[in-house]
Amino acid sequence: MANVGVDIGSTATKCVLWDGSRFVYYLTPTGWAPAESAEKAVRMVCRRAHILKRGDVHITVTGYGRNIFQADRRVTEITCHAAGAHRLAPEATTVLDIGGQDSKVIRIDENGKVLDFLMNDKCAAGTGRFLQNMAVHLGCKLADFCNIPEGTPLQPINNMCTVFAESEVIGLLAKGADKDSICLGLLDSVAQRAANLLSRVSDDGDICFTGGCAQNRLLARLIEQKTGRRVITPEKAQFAGALGAAVMEAVR
Ligand code: ADP
Repeated sequence: MANVGVDIGSTATKCVLWDGSRFVYYLTPTGWAPAESAEKAVRMVCRRAHILKRGDVHITVTGYGRNIFQADRRVTEITCHAAGAHRLAPEATTVLDIGGQDSKVIRIDENGKVLDFLMNDKCAAGTGRFLQNMAVHLGCKLADFCNIPEGTPLQPINNMCTVFAESEVIGLLAKGADKDSICLGLLDSVAQRAANLLSRVSDDGDICFTGGCAQNRLLARLIEQKTGRRVITPEKAQFAGALGAAVMEAVR
């Protein structure tokens, strides 16, 4: 029987099917109906794997919305992210996940088991939501945070709090500050938050950077510079939680 892992995140619902020989991935916005988004994601991976009945897969659900979805098993996102990141980058000793609404650091052993973790889910600063809100004020897209030209001077952003940082950005724009420089300053503040979180939990080993924000390679580079550690950004970084749920031993 194939395993399906579903990670119902605050922003995106990720789904991975593992049939023992191949992985099938699907991502959809979580939107206002998380259970429906998750149901759609399961349907889509099954269809792509030519599996006709939902009963023919073992489903493990994780993430922020895990309690509202019918599945064979529920597992915490910390456990799933650790397992998924270990699969994506077995050499990493630490997982840094920056998603839509929270960020977390997980220290793992050589089997991907959780040793320790720390989570910031109380404040939007340092998360994807922070960058999304700022993009609105800057009239730019998330992708623009990934394409800041080399050599752009950094405009420091002094406020860590999302609300105050928004006012600061509006003030800087009114003074004619360069947009790319502001974007770089905002990324730098996310990187600094991540570095602070990392310094509280982890060792000196390699970091597997997961979550949607790991798609920003510039952010990964800034975290590398601040921590002096190697930051690995696997291609399927956003799927780490769902992948971990899919590869975990199924409970039949
Ligand atoms: P969640 O599990 O909370 O839904 P995800 O790990 O799926 O979060 O990440 C979603 C976040 O990823 C979005 O809030 C967005 O800020 C960020 N993101 C998505 N795509 C990109 C991209 N191409 N570049 C940078 N950040 C991105």
